[in-house]
Amino acid sequence: MKTFCGRANPTTGSMEWFEEGEDYDYHQEIARSRYADMLHDKDRNVKYYQGIRAAVSRVKERGEKAIVLDIGTGTGLLSMMAASAGADFCYAIEVFKPMANAAVKIVEKNGFSDKIKVINKHSTEVTVGPDGDMQCRANILVTELFDTELIGEGALPTYEHAHKYLVQEGCEAVPHRATVYVQLVESRRMWSWKKLFPVHVEAEDGEKILVPPSEMENCPGVPSVCDIQLNQMPSSDFSTLSDVVTMFSVDFSKPVQSASTYYRVQLEPVKSGKAQIVLSWWDIDMDPLGMINCTMAPYWVKPTSALQWRDHWMQCVYFLPREEPVLQGEKLYLTACRDEYSVWYSLQKAREGENKADEEEHKADVGVESPVCRCRAHLLWNRPRFGELNDQNRTRRYIRALRKVLKTDSVCLCISDGSLLPVLAHYLGAKQVQCMQPSRIDLYHPHELWQAFLKANHLEDKIKIIEARPELLKPSHLEDKKISVLVGEPFFTTSLLPWHNLYFWYARTAVSPHLASNVTVLPQSASLHVMIVEFQDLWRIRSPCGTCEGFDVQTMDDMIKDSLNFRESKEAEPHPLWEYPCKSLSDPQEVVTFDFTKTVPQHCLSTEGSLKLLRKGKSHGAVLWMEYHLTADISVSTGLMQVSNEKGNCEWNPHCKQAVYFFSSVIESEILSDPTAVTYAINFDTKTGEIAMDFKL
Ligand code: SAH
Repeated sequence: MKTFCGRANPTTGSMEWFEEGEDYDYHQEIARSRYADMLHDKDRNVKYYQGIRAAVSRVKERGEKAIVLDIGTGTGLLSMMAASAGADFCYAIEVFKPMANAAVKIVEKNGFSDKIKVINKHSTEVTVGPDGDMQCRANILVTELFDTELIGEGALPTYEHAHKYLVQEGCEAVPHRATVYVQLVESRRMWSWKKLFPVHVEAEDGEKILVPPSEMENCPGVPSVCDIQLNQMPSSDFSTLSDVVTMFSVDFSKPVQSASTYYRVQLEPVKSGKAQIVLSWWDIDMDPLGMINCTMAPYWVKPTSALQWRDHWMQCVYFLPREEPVLQGEKLYLTACRDEYSVWYSLQKAREGENKADEEEHKADVGVESPVCRCRAHLLWNRPRFGELNDQNRTRRYIRALRKVLKTDSVCLCISDGSLLPVLAHYLGAKQVQCMQPSRIDLYHPHELWQAFLKANHLEDKIKIIEARPELLKPSHLEDKKISVLVGEPFFTTSLLPWHNLYFWYARTAVSPHLASNVTVLPQSASLHVMIVEFQDLWRIRSPCGTCEGFDVQTMDDMIKDSLNFRESKEAEPHPLWEYPCKSLSDPQEVVTFDFTKTVPQHCLSTEGSLKLLRKGKSHGAVLWMEYHLTADISVSTGLMQVSNEKGNCEWNPHCKQAVYFFSSVIESEILSDPTAVTYAINFDTKTGEIAMDFKL
């Protein structure tokens, strides 16, 4: 079997399809999986173990044999817990073949082969009967099939099927129930991930305000879940308008229905404000009485208990279809609609003198359709990109830089995806402005969105959209003029790692014949920066576990290591570091400069050097990011904003992902009088646009 993998080519900005061997997919899955993170989740593991022990005891007390069905066994962990707790037999179901094979090995190594049968099937394919996969139906159902949204990994249909065909009526379930909680908030920061705010520009001839088209104002956005580490959101960035409310719960010990439905709760705002966002998380009770509870509640809800860090379960941010002003004490209804795999929210105001009968009518008002972007902007810009475009401080820098380089006779070409720069350039007085949005993805038509955008601002005849790729640019596109100012943010939708936006340099090279001899390129250059860090928690996703609750899971560690070595070992991976606290152990260092005033050279750009470990700590890896030098004295960083205190805590650009290169072994730096140095070798291959790196500790 061959797998086709899509990857953006950073030298062309386009998606290309590669044929990969059959192992590729599997290694990707394992290397990028959350298995390590789950095994490090002590709170989860301890509570599952307690819940499983209690369930086995309850069944035994009834004088029954304990027959366990573990759906999605992964490493086999929950089945081994059940067997240790005295279960008579466990059926461990795992659909992903490499994991099922690993589970067989792990179960054997831990001495449970006679008690646990690993079945490599999807649970809906499992058969019961004398010749079936299972001899009889189980009376204990154990699963861990949840994502941050609870149901996104298909827990509901899996439970629905299991209750119909695989477990006995009145079975014990671990977890016993899940409950989803919500809180209504106002947050300019989070709302800026969904909506484009007006942009104010001080121009020569007065203030100009750039506004989004009206379709964008009322667009419900996209249905994909927005899951983040809400614990990294400072309380100053949002204001809670309601108490925490229980939205719905699911009892896993009873038949479960997966069909689309909705839930409605009454809310009374504790404060007046603008209802924009619904924050949501869930908890699971491992036992019927709810004594063993595992919660994803954020810091302001559970301030006393120590928070368990985890990346496989976070919190959700839902965007209401539109902003709604609400008054303290007013009667509101919040509706959660869900289909089999996702949830979305809407808010309704209760009408004057409403009674039960009206409420029925009200139900009819509830929109049950999942959010679909009508304005196209939510297809072009993802949530961090909305945040970036709404970052006024960043926009001001571009305005200052543009003001420096633009003249009244400037012929300006902008190359960037979905950028506001062409409009800014026009407002700031450029005579002729064209733009090019080269990363085309066939699913949407950025040009239509741009037409709407220009129309909303009466700029249709002021800014020309060139629907050609840079290498196909013709003099006629430019009205036979040469470009005097070439600008880019740069930003391209296909970029995964920070340096993929260097596609701007390739595009600049392709349009060289059209540049005036005294052209100004903005940014004039970019630089790659690197710094060694100690992560507070993120290291867990790459760290071996050894034993988990007394079970030997080294087989899993080895498997992850193998998969990382398959391809990834010399590669960095993107992470939004504002969500993952770390401290700097070295000073940040500029390692490579890319000169946009010149074309991309034929030869590779290589560099070697060393970074001194100046702070005590564990070196988990290196972080790399790009900085763009718009002019000689105005820069924007897509990575480090500042090291905020003497402890070395880092503040990162909240709209961008940084590249993280995890070291294969961690070193602890102690002696500060003679700082240890980490040496690096970094190579930018101008043919492929990729960066290879190696670090020696
Ligand atoms: N039970 C393990 C692993 C949980 S991860 C633990 O708690 O540590 C969930 C696993 O379930 C994944 O390995 C996934 O491949 C598997 N899975 C999800 N739905 C499934 C289904 N319906 N049938 C079989 N396996 C499933």
